[in-house]
Amino acid sequence: LATHYLDRIGKSDLNAFLHVDRDLTLAQAAEADARLARGEVTPLTGIPIAHKDIFVTRDWRSTAGSKMLEGYISPFDATVVQQFRNAGMVTLGKLNCDEFAMGSSNENSYFGPVKNPWDKAAIPGGSSGGSAAAIAARLAPAATATDTGGSIRQPAALCGVTGIKPTYGRVSRFGMIAFASSLDQGGPMAQTAEDCALLLNAMAGFDAKDSTSLERPAEDFARDLDKPLQGLKIGIPREYFGPGLAADVEQAVRAALSEYEKLGATLVDVSLPKTELSIPVYYVIAPAEASSNLSRFDGVRYGHRAKEYKDLADMYSKSRAEGFGHEVQRRILVGAYVLSHGYYDAYYLQAQKIRRLIAEDFKNAFTQCDVIMGPVCPTVAWDIGDKADDPVANYLADIFTLSTSLAGLPGMSIPCGFGQGDKNGKRPVGLQIIGNYFDEARLLNVAHQFQ
Ligand code: GLN
Repeated sequence: LATHYLDRIGKSDLNAFLHVDRDLTLAQAAEADARLARGEVTPLTGIPIAHKDIFVTRDWRSTAGSKMLEGYISPFDATVVQQFRNAGMVTLGKLNCDEFAMGSSNENSYFGPVKNPWDKAAIPGGSSGGSAAAIAARLAPAATATDTGGSIRQPAALCGVTGIKPTYGRVSRFGMIAFASSLDQGGPMAQTAEDCALLLNAMAGFDAKDSTSLERPAEDFARDLDKPLQGLKIGIPREYFGPGLAADVEQAVRAALSEYEKLGATLVDVSLPKTELSIPVYYVIAPAEASSNLSRFDGVRYGHRAKEYKDLADMYSKSRAEGFGHEVQRRILVGAYVLSHGYYDAYYLQAQKIRRLIAEDFKNAFTQCDVIMGPVCPTVAWDIGDKADDPVANYLADIFTLSTSLAGLPGMSIPCGFGQGDKNGKRPVGLQIIGNYFDEARLLNVAHQFQ
């Protein structure tokens, strides 16, 4: 299996992988073979997996898609990487992503954009564009990804694969290079919900090394996959079907909803009235946290250091100016501004209050339904370059994913058809399924019944 995927990766021109090392992978595969021979079998033993380059690895380079960390080798493995190793999985390498996971198109990677395997002129989505493209192109059967405001669900949707962002705190953030710590959450991507359930079984769990990790009893996320959906109440938020939604995406999502009705579910009209505010709220809170998290990249402790400088302050500013790309610098500036004296109350505190109201929206909606469904992204994948110089256009594409992240709820994306609106034919559409806290097993069940 490892050889099969390594060969496919070698022939691919998608730019999905940033670092592959055949010998390292084959050594892990040999180890897995030995474990199998000894009868130490888990459902994942010997199955290859590739990691988003946000997860640090001792053996492969870890760059977070940034020049700042070019060539960086971590002294330890992220908890998630370690968990998959413990389950006997074989690491295929590291996957391209937007710089420090900031982006919706993978065009913010220092190492160049990833191409969408369905149409190489299109973006794969972001920030986990490498993960989604690798799964879609069968370069890996499983991948890790991270979601701060949609980065698992949106690329999964735009590449036609399945991904789940668990409840905040389910998956350890230890060794996940931080973007916005109160939002960042790792999760799996694969072809199917069933695969995601098996991966989440290995990935979830308490970790003392992450202060926001949740102590919950161990769960089998695959336990409910085969449950019938008779009687399931699906909330349809009217704010997710407004004028900004492309007709072809709406059509595919509505067709999926009818399928759910045939499976015995009922559709209930619900409202998430603060949806529109999720964009300004997220783009205050996420940059604020990013400006603090990224202060560690000072040219001393990690990564890039400018070659010439006058004094210490000059070394800091030159190293950071050279090491960070435009989008990262923009967010550091915005974040430092909204946290500064005199602006904190007006922006950051306000945003925190609205964040609470956004969570209330969901709380109210879940009194009327079991899960919420809608589109993941307002359009299908756009062309590489189309929105590259327009940060706001990129931010607007996050409208349906940000509130779930702000509320800390689990959400997933499953393929539900293709759009018609692009010139080259067909680009995938994703159906979003949002659940109440800790309801991942139900989300996976609902997804599996459709697949
Ligand atoms: N597109 C959003 C952003 O640019 C979300 C990214 C993410 O979830 N990592 O911040």
